[in-house]
Amino acid sequence: MKLITVIFLSLAFLLNFPTASKAHTREDLQAFQRSIIDYRWRLNPAFKKVKREKTSYIIVHTSELGLKKTLRVISLGKRMDDRRSTQGGHTHYVIARNGRTFRILDKKYEADHAGLSMWNGEADISKVSIGIELVGYHYTPITEHQYRSVGMLIDILQGVYGLEDRAILTHSQVAYGKPNRWIEKNHRGRKRCAKNFIRAKAGLGPTWVYDPDVRAGRLVADLQLAEVFYGRKEFYAVVDEANIISKSNTAWSIAGGDYDSRTTVYKFPNGRTYTGDQIAATVGWNRIPPQTLVLLSQETSKELIKNEGSIKTTSDGLSAWSFAGKAYNHKTTIYFLPSGRIKYGSMISDWDDLPASTRLIIGYRGPYEIRKDQTAYRIAGKKYKDGKTIYYLPSKKLLVGNKIKEFNQLPLGTLIFLPSR
Ligand SMILES: [Zn+2]
Repeated sequence: MKLITVIFLSLAFLLNFPTASKAHTREDLQAFQRSIIDYRWRLNPAFKKVKREKTSYIIVHTSELGLKKTLRVISLGKRMDDRRSTQGGHTHYVIARNGRTFRILDKKYEADHAGLSMWNGEADISKVSIGIELVGYHYTPITEHQYRSVGMLIDILQGVYGLEDRAILTHSQVAYGKPNRWIEKNHRGRKRCAKNFIRAKAGLGPTWVYDPDVRAGRLVADLQLAEVFYGRKEFYAVVDEANIISKSNTAWSIAGGDYDSRTTVYKFPNGRTYTGDQIAATVGWNRIPPQTLVLLSQETSKELIKNEGSIKTTSDGLSAWSFAGKAYNHKTTIYFLPSGRIKYGSMISDWDDLPASTRLIIGYRGPYEIRKDQTAYRIAGKKYKDGKTIYYLPSKKLLVGNKIKEFNQLPLGTLIFLPSR
């Protein structure tokens, strides 16, 4: 008997079996559970609660939005087009970028989170799974706070439902699409959701090394996702500026099945914006210029249009990341908070912590203060009336140089910011 145990343990060691080595203590888990914010009161009353009969999987998503809008869309529903909207209940839990966790729907009910989906021959994964939304984008890093919270949440749920580590999958793994203009068969790749989820960081061990539905011929693989999830290389996802169109980064590889949706917005390098449903008729799918920015889950492109120029304004749908990308925390990205405070990117812990209506300028240095002995001309030289020279008035107004008529009337204490290059 003893010998058998020894052999088994050696085998387990050699084969690298999953061992119960989760890092959380019971106290950690209890404290985490108490910290979950109950957000069920916000659920759309039209959402129909149906008890789930079976729980086979936990599905991890990235919300592709900031926190405020994620909570709204997930709880109340999303506008699909001018008339239709969904009825909310789009996940069980939301985890903010600072790790704060919200309960959207009691875990015993079915959430409408996976859409057209299949795993190991079983379709409609929403009916047999729990959904967890991580606030953020599939092309930005998930935060350490989020990994800590999602790790503990998964640990608790695994205990409740008796699930192994391989029962934890991402939405991009289980979603599939019907044939479209890019692919003739049912296929993976409809969603890119949580393709940046690094399992080990959430304390998860071994998982599927192949896609069972692709292997069985039920679906066609998506090459990019297959590389991420089943490739030999360890994948540390985040390609630079991964929501920008290039030869290798197509509309399809950024937006998946949402490529032609009216909620996907394409911002061309010349400043023009189009929604996904306009591209075919007005531009043509082969003619999207490189450097086009692709934004998912937008409800309106009007926000984008009013954000032309050097001064950008964040909103529910447009985060500091949407404008500045990786430069959001550089010291040359300067934020003007609604409170009147000025912060450099290097003072920001995460782009999602900034309130809506924060204004920002990217690639700037300053401030240089207008004083009696220091005029705008002394500070900026001939560029003082340039469209790229920024003036921050004591009234909190931000102006660009070419919109100012009377420079003599600028109050003392006005701050000037100049392009850093
Ligand atoms: Zn998803």
